[in-house]
Amino acid sequence: MILCIIRDVATKKNKMVKFLDLYSINQQYKSELKEAFERVLDSGWYILGNEIKQFEADYAAYCGTKHAIGVANGLDALILIIRAYKELGVFEEGDEIIVPSNTFIASILAVSANGLIPVLVEPDLYSYNIDPNLIEAKITTKTKAILPVHLYGQLCDMANINRIAKKHNLKVIEDAAQSQGATINGTRSGNFGDAAGHSFYPGKNLGALGDGGAVTTNDDELASAIRAIANYGSHIKYKNKYKGINSRLDELQAALLGVKLKRLDADTEIKRNIANRYLSEIRNEKIKLPKVSEQSAHVWHLFVIRTEDRDHLQQYLTGNDIQTVIHYPIPPHKQEAYKEWNGLNYPVSEQIHAEVLSLPLSPVIRDEEVNKVIEALNNY
Ligand SMILES: *Cc1c(COP(=O)(O)O)cnc(C)c1O
Repeated sequence: MILCIIRDVATKKNKMVKFLDLYSINQQYKSELKEAFERVLDSGWYILGNEIKQFEADYAAYCGTKHAIGVANGLDALILIIRAYKELGVFEEGDEIIVPSNTFIASILAVSANGLIPVLVEPDLYSYNIDPNLIEAKITTKTKAILPVHLYGQLCDMANINRIAKKHNLKVIEDAAQSQGATINGTRSGNFGDAAGHSFYPGKNLGALGDGGAVTTNDDELASAIRAIANYGSHIKYKNKYKGINSRLDELQAALLGVKLKRLDADTEIKRNIANRYLSEIRNEKIKLPKVSEQSAHVWHLFVIRTEDRDHLQQYLTGNDIQTVIHYPIPPHKQEAYKEWNGLNYPVSEQIHAEVLSLPLSPVIRDEEVNKVIEALNNY
């Protein structure tokens, strides 16, 4: 009897459907990751060597861009793009960049960090991405760029965004942190604008075992400036063209990422199948499913539903051993860091932040776990 209870408690613990099981995700590549680690260890060369050269070439080829530049993280990637445009005389402090009002804060921090002004534009309630129809009303003589964020893994309406940018002579800087691999008509995330910032944060679709990021671009001059700024401002050792920073992707992370890049498309396909099951099998009028523009345009970094009483649903799922996360609980304009915006109203963004909940989704989630999530939601 007692044994039965103990076994029950033990299986209950294992029964928890994890939101994202990073341990199991990386265990899939254990032997190759160890090989890559040994190669770097034994090379005796840890910064700006062959591993980063190889990864940059592979990642550029994957995205279809001329350049990929490894940097320390995704926030730095965006900061460096804007900084390089300042150095090249394209942007100056006080200029404005259009960003979505419901993004992860880093998209907006990158603009502020450079002394430029983020101008918030509301998203579409169903795709969660910036609404191109609202962009032109926010363009002023100070506007220099649009920074679309492919939120949760789905590409923005880039045809319309690029059309508006061209008409008003604006740069387009993609925040591709969540959208590795997404494509529309053969063009891949990171190759839709003038430059793109990518993140290899462990939980992202292509995750390192630590921090990492990259910039992709087809612009030689911009690429060259970013390379130098990220390396103390030097093209040539001890010769400083810019007052630069140190933001590099190290050899070890580059080698580990090279292993995982080979499997990215296969992992995305697994996630797509799970997302398709959620989309077709979750049937509950209290739950609003995400709108998908085109299969290949979504790589499902997150599967985000909406419901009126979100906190109640989250508690219910936790009670059913299903782990969920809120992306994101507080809209940028309500953050303490942006006090100047606290009084402004962005009703769509506020509704999204109040109602969203991200369901468990990963390449290692098992069928019976997916069944359990669907069943719990349908019974809610
Ligand atoms: C993760 C993320 C970033 C920042 O990337 P880090 O590597 O964590 O610095 C930027 N924008 C978005 C949309 C992100 O999700």
